[in-house]
Amino acid sequence: MTAPRTPTTAEELRGVGLRVTAARVALLETVREGDHLGVEAIATGVRGRVGHISLQAVYEALHALTTAGLVRRIEPPGSPARFEGRVGDNHHHLVCRSCGAVVDVDCAVGHAPCLTASDDRGFAIDEAEVIYWGLCPDCSTARST
Ligand SMILES: [Zn+2]
Ligand SMILES: [Zn+2]
Ligand SMILES: [Zn+2]
Repeated sequence: MTAPRTPTTAEELRGVGLRVTAARVALLETVREGDHLGVEAIATGVRGRVGHISLQAVYEALHALTTAGLVRRIEPPGSPARFEGRVGDNHHHLVCRSCGAVVDVDCAVGHAPCLTASDDRGFAIDEAEVIYWGLCPDCSTARST
């Protein structure tokens, strides 16, 4: 018996029909290792792996990976877009109003609650975007002292 092997990043790209390039592999790895990174931070990470890449190319690769479902884009209103590699589980985010920190939080009870709209109006719903706004522990401590 052979143990199931986790696919390589290149195989995952191929699996969703994307052409494999060094930049896309580096980008996906950067996003997965990061924690809700913004575009600039992702560009820095990709450059650290494969050398120079233009910001435009980073945007294009992010768009391709997001469309293919390997990367999830979150865009809290009034805050720049962030990207993460945790996809397909309908988790939500806590966002700090003061410093912009973004933290994952699982859906209330498993998958169903937020995906089960009180009335779906005939839509086949596959995602619920929920953002909890507030102050992170660091910022609320700073305010109270
Ligand atoms: Zn904060
Ligand atoms: Zn997240
Ligand atoms: Zn939920």
